[in-house]
Amino acid sequence: MALERTTCSRCGGSGEYSFNMKDGSRCYGCNGKGTKLTKRGAVAMQHLVHSMEVSFEQVQLGDKVGIKVMGGIWWVTVNELESSSDTYTIGGLRLNGEQYAHTGRGSDARFKRVLVEGERAQLIEAAEQFQATLTKQGKPRK
Ligand SMILES: [Zn+2]
Repeated sequence: MALERTTCSRCGGSGEYSFNMKDGSRCYGCNGKGTKLTKRGAVAMQHLVHSMEVSFEQVQLGDKVGIKVMGGIWWVTVNELESSSDTYTIGGLRLNGEQYAHTGRGSDARFKRVLVEGERAQLIEAAEQFQATLTKQGKPRK
């Protein structure tokens, strides 16, 4: 079992579509993979991503967390945590020894957490089991 995917209808599974200078002929429907998640698969993927993250409230000083920065993830060992009613600041040392701090708004920020050995496989399995409880439309089966 795996997260449910279907052939990309835009490129018919080839992963290639009309050519442009920036991305070549990579299909935007599937990012060149040729397949994409079904509705059910996408909901299970959200579940999986969520299970690999922590909320701001769960982060403690000394934790290693990944902060999403412009399309990438910067890992820091947290040494700064501050929040007010509508903003939060999280900061820490990056792998290269540089201090990095991120300030954001809202209370729903989430950060990548370090997974222990074998945990990824367990979380994927849990997401697959969750997927099996969903209808084709990605809703909980009654
Ligand atoms: Zn495609």
